[in-house]
Amino acid sequence: MIEREQLEMDVVFVGAGPANLAAALHLKNQIKIHNELVERGQHPGRIIDDLEIGIIEKGSAVGAHILSGAVVDPVALRELMPDFLEQGCPVDSVVTEDAFWYLTETKKIKSPITPPPLKNHGKYIASLSRICEWLGEKCEEAGINIFPEFPGAEMIYDENERVIGVRTGDKGIDKEGKPKPNFEPGVDLLAKVTVLGEGSRGSLTKQLMQRLNLHEDKEPQVFSIGVKELWEVPAGNIDEGFVIHTLGFPSDAQTYGGGWIYGMKDNIVSIGYVTGLDYVDPLIDPHAEFQKFKTHPDVAAILQGGKMIKYGAKAINAGGYYTMPKLFADGVLLVGDSASFLNGQRIKGIHTAMKSGMLAAETIVTAFDHNDFTTKILKNYDEKVNGSWIYDELFAVRNFHASFQRGRWSALVNGGLQFLTGGLAWGFMPKEHHVAGHERMDTLVNFEYKDEGDSQRYANLKFDKQLTFDKITDVFHAGVSHDEDQPSHLHILDTEICATTCAEEYGNPCQRFCPAAVYEMEENATTGRREIKVNFSNCVHCKTCDIADPYQIINWVTPEGGGGPNYKGM
Ligand code: SF4
Repeated sequence: MIEREQLEMDVVFVGAGPANLAAALHLKNQIKIHNELVERGQHPGRIIDDLEIGIIEKGSAVGAHILSGAVVDPVALRELMPDFLEQGCPVDSVVTEDAFWYLTETKKIKSPITPPPLKNHGKYIASLSRICEWLGEKCEEAGINIFPEFPGAEMIYDENERVIGVRTGDKGIDKEGKPKPNFEPGVDLLAKVTVLGEGSRGSLTKQLMQRLNLHEDKEPQVFSIGVKELWEVPAGNIDEGFVIHTLGFPSDAQTYGGGWIYGMKDNIVSIGYVTGLDYVDPLIDPHAEFQKFKTHPDVAAILQGGKMIKYGAKAINAGGYYTMPKLFADGVLLVGDSASFLNGQRIKGIHTAMKSGMLAAETIVTAFDHNDFTTKILKNYDEKVNGSWIYDELFAVRNFHASFQRGRWSALVNGGLQFLTGGLAWGFMPKEHHVAGHERMDTLVNFEYKDEGDSQRYANLKFDKQLTFDKITDVFHAGVSHDEDQPSHLHILDTEICATTCAEEYGNPCQRFCPAAVYEMEENATTGRREIKVNFSNCVHCKTCDIADPYQIINWVTPEGGGGPNYKGM
């Protein structure tokens, strides 16, 4: 039995992303306001003593695991800190021009008008990693403790299934699972309220939702994967502040997908491609889709003469309103992408994530005011979300992603009608609305390839290491590092399935949907059978395998703290 240190805190935030950083800072501000009102006799509550607030983060530093496009709608930032620009918020550029391109294999059709949800004029192109780093500094200045390299390994419950904190991961375990000389057991952080803001498919959020059934009566969560590179290009290739979104090539009409190209300061370009993880063709490879996207003549022209400098990939919650879990339980709240707050139609979730964190913070103030951390008070969070602009925004696009599950053309018709009617579903919606992505993937035998070329969708894709890159080269640019002498954090619950059923039915799609070449089928020298090999040290923590595996036998758990990609500045 391992002896663990227990640390008593008041509030613990898991994950130093935009939702939790905004939440922690807002909590500090709101307590101050609350206490001033009580002191002046303008509020009947009681003074809340200085709270012990901690944020744990699995990355090596705040921002190291944060990846986004990103064009930021500053609405929540402004609410949090009206003078965010004066206070040095590191936005990159103001959006000065928007474009929406429909791409065929060789041509682009420039839309005469940018669809209103994709109008970004006046918003900010930014590195979300940098913004989080800056928010982290603001939190520390406000007296909030941030613990980088501390992954949340499991939730701690009391005998009544109330969440009472989180256990952090052990350090110094070798690959056989034995303690090394530097072994340090994880710490039990006990808290009156734990806030999970782990991003898309958080590992603790997944455990919690299963154990407390927080997804009951909700539609299945639906995800996409965004694969991104940062490029430095010659001056003149693209204007700073120019934002382009694309639809069409290389996605087929059945697959949800689209690209982005953002012109940043100093001739830096953020370029990426989103593929829905509810694709049907088991041969799809989201990293290869992105590489193909860059070969389009109009896209390649922007990158011409440039150099790729960074790479990353991350899953995105795409399902929206109907797929949001219950947001609270005794002692715990869910914020940001962990609770599916992203607006899929605008491809934006930073503002909603931050706002959800701020509403969680206001709920926590009420909980301390009443000294009650049960659902009786914490359910106010749900009411606050439904009474805020988050509800207005997400409810209006509640049918957006589901309409894509019937293919691109019905989605475009339906999306336009939804925009005009405030989100009403029209005639082209799938009967079952959202279906979990892994259930939609077809087997190799069943999927109807139009011809042989169709089943060789990447046959012409060559990695020239100038415009297009193989996964290993890209992973190198993600700054990934994991201590190799630790147990793999990718738990395959039944490797026999990989070698037999999955190989026959799907051709081991993990080799394709993982954007970091973690999964390989390798011949066993003794048996001659092809078996799964897991190169876990390549993992960029995108969570795609946990989501997209058709048998749901891959369980992503947190590796030793500090391991993973380094997206600083990305
Ligand atoms: Fe993403 Fe899973 Fe591959 Fe890691 S192993 S990079 S989480 S798909």
